[in-house]
Amino acid sequence: MTRIDDFSRPLEYLSPLDKYLGAIVRDWAESYVIPFRRSFDEDWKEHKLIEPAFRRLMGELGFQRILFPEDLGGWGLGHSDYLGTGAFRIFEEIARADSGIAVAFGVVFWPLVMICVEPHVNRRLCEEFAPMFCQTTEPVFSANAMTEPQGGADIENFEVVKGSTIQTTARLEGDEWVINGHKLWPTNSGGVADLFGVICTTNPGSTDPGDFAFIFVPADTPGVTQGPPYQKAGMAADKNGDIWFENVRVPSWYRAHGPGDDLKYFKEVLSFGNMGSVAFVCGVMLNVYEILYDFCSEIYFRGKPLKENDDVAGFLADLASATQVIRFSGYQLARMLDRPDIYGERWSDEIVAKGRAVKYFACDRALELLGKAVKLMGAYGSDRVYDVEKHWRDLKIVQLWMGGKQLCQMEVARWYFDCETL
Ligand SMILES: Cc1cc2nc3c(=O)[nH]c(=O)nc-3n(C[C@H](O)[C@H](O)[C@H](O)COP(=O)(O)OP(=O)(O)OC[C@H]3O[C@@H](n4cnc5c(N)ncnc54)[C@H](O)[C@@H]3O)c2cc1C
Repeated sequence: MTRIDDFSRPLEYLSPLDKYLGAIVRDWAESYVIPFRRSFDEDWKEHKLIEPAFRRLMGELGFQRILFPEDLGGWGLGHSDYLGTGAFRIFEEIARADSGIAVAFGVVFWPLVMICVEPHVNRRLCEEFAPMFCQTTEPVFSANAMTEPQGGADIENFEVVKGSTIQTTARLEGDEWVINGHKLWPTNSGGVADLFGVICTTNPGSTDPGDFAFIFVPADTPGVTQGPPYQKAGMAADKNGDIWFENVRVPSWYRAHGPGDDLKYFKEVLSFGNMGSVAFVCGVMLNVYEILYDFCSEIYFRGKPLKENDDVAGFLADLASATQVIRFSGYQLARMLDRPDIYGERWSDEIVAKGRAVKYFACDRALELLGKAVKLMGAYGSDRVYDVEKHWRDLKIVQLWMGGKQLCQMEVARWYFDCETL
C-alpha cells in the first residue's frame, strides 16, 4: 500500500540525522497534535489545549535549541550544511499535523537566522539569547516584527520601496537604541513572544540601505505592549496581534549587524520564509493525500470505491502529482539554501525571487486542489471530522503572508524579465 513516505525526496543530499528527526517529530505529532487538532480552533485565544504540544516539542524535546551553537547549549544547525533540508523535514512533518503549529514553531527561528547562521553569526547576541532558549524545558517564542499598519508588502519590497515606508524608528542615544512604532500581525505576537526581532528605520523616509535596522527587543522591556490575538480563519496555534513600542530602550549592540548588513542578511530571512512556507504547503498536501486515500477507498459510488471511478481517479492523480512536485521543488529550494557555494548567496535577489516563485506556485496549486478535494467529498468536505476543511482554511493563510501573491509575482517578474519599474 502506498503511503506518504513513498512521495520521493532527494535522499542523496539529506542529513544522516534526517530520518531520526523526522521520526521524532512524527511520533510527537501523532501523540500531541493529530488527536486534538480539531478542537484547536476554539482554543485560539487561550492556547490551553495547544500549549502541551508546544511544550513537548520545543521545551522537553528541545527543538527550540536547534539553531544555537553547541557550546551554548544548542544543536548547532546554524553552522550545518543541512540547515535548509533539515528544517524542511521538520516543518513538513509538523504541518502534516497542523500548519498553525508549524508556522509558530518556524518563526521561533526566523529572527534568530540573523545572528545564528554562518557566515554571519553574531556571537555576542547568541551568547545573550541562547540561555533563554537552551536552559529551560518551557517553550520560548520569538517573533519577526515587520508588518506595520500602512502595509506589510511594502516593507518586504526592498528593490523598489527600499525601506522608505518603514515608520518604526530607532534613534541612537548614547549606547542605547530608542525604539518607537507600531507593528501588527507578526506570528507569535498576541502576547506569546518572549523576544522580538524588530525592523526599524534610523532615518524615516530614507531609501539608503544603511538606514534599515534589525534590532532585538526582549518582550519584557519597558515600553513594549502586546495586544490580544486576532481571531482569524484558521491557524489557531499561531497568535497574531498588535505590538506597540514606546520609547523602548535596548543596548546598541542588540542591532543584528549594522548599516547595510542588516538589510543584506534580512533578505536571507525572507529566503528561509519562502522555503518554510513551501514546507508547510507540502505537509498539508501529504495529510490531505492520506485522508483522501482512506475516504476514496471506503466510500462507494455505483458499487465501486470512489477512487475506481475515472473522474475521481483523475483528480486523485492531480493531487498526488502536485504533492510530489511541490515536495521535490521544496527540497531543491532548501538544498539551494544549504549550498550557497553552488547556487549563490541566500540573501541574493535571485534566491529570494526563486523562493517566491516556488512559494506562490505551491500555494496556488495546493489551494486549487484542496478546493476540489472539499467538493469531491461532498457534504463530508465541510465536516470537521475529516480535517480537510481545516487544512483548506489554514493553507489559504500561507498564501497571504510575506506580501501575499502579488509581491511574489512582482519579484519573480523583476528577476526573470528584468522589469525595472515594478
Ligand atoms: C497568519 C499570518 C502570519 C503572519 N506573520 C507575520 C510575521 O511573522 N511577521 C510580520 O511582520 N508579518 C506577518 N504577517 C503579516 C503579513 O506578512 C502581511 O499581512 C502581508 O505582508 C501583507 O501585508 P498587509 O496585510 O499590510 O497588506 P498590504 O501590504 O497593505 O497589501 C494589501 C494587498 O495589496 C497587495 N499589494 C501590495 N503592494 C502591491 C503592489 N505594489 N502591487 C500589487 N499588489 C500589491 C498585497 O499583495 C495584498 O494583497 C502575517 C500575516 C498572517 C495572516
